[in-house]
Amino acid sequence: MEQGGQDKAAAASEQEGPSSGRPRKREKAGKQDAEISGRALGRTVEAFMKLPGIGRKSAERLAFAVLGMPKEEAAGIAQAILDLKNNSRYCSVCNNITEDEICGICRDEKRDTTRICVVEEPSNILVLEKSGIFRGRYHALMGSLSPLDGVGPEDLKIDGLMERLKSGEVKEVILATNPTVKGETTALYLSKLIKPLGIGVSRIAYGLPVGGDIEYADENTVLRALEGRREM
Ligand code: ZN
Repeated sequence: MEQGGQDKAAAASEQEGPSSGRPRKREKAGKQDAEISGRALGRTVEAFMKLPGIGRKSAERLAFAVLGMPKEEAAGIAQAILDLKNNSRYCSVCNNITEDEICGICRDEKRDTTRICVVEEPSNILVLEKSGIFRGRYHALMGSLSPLDGVGPEDLKIDGLMERLKSGEVKEVILATNPTVKGETTALYLSKLIKPLGIGVSRIAYGLPVGGDIEYADENTVLRALEGRREM
């Protein structure tokens, strides 16, 4: 079928005469390039485009980078992806990504067991951990409340969190859901649920990004930055 299409294109090119010959030639060259590059490359590009933030251009760059690697290095990437899929699971306590039943943070006896930081996604735990400031434990909700999208409390891992709070060991819950409408809705819902238990509830402060300029910040961000101020 492709062959037939090519023939048609070639025929059209011939019929159009010498005046329109040049652009037609260029188009043909592009098609030829795609054919030369091969199906495996095309499949790799398509695969990379499934990742967030990766458009066709970036995917092509990544695919060519893989192509230029030693075979073992490329195999290492493929194997790492397979291992990630085969061996990773959610921690049965906090929903963090782990290879065991219970994650390293939940197992770490040296961590502060009186504080739980609640986040939307397990990936948020990694970001907070990198800051190295928080030494308590976490709880990933696996999403945020969104009534308009039909996401209610029963769709999130809220029961598990409430179960953890029942032990009486936890003195403070830090709500680190996103500064979005969904994140705020979730934080408000949780705070109403947790406060009656006599447990302290706090919300992380949002403000200006480091290296940012107040001039370019929107009103809400400046308001948050002022509200979240601390004594110097
Ligand atoms: Zn855990």
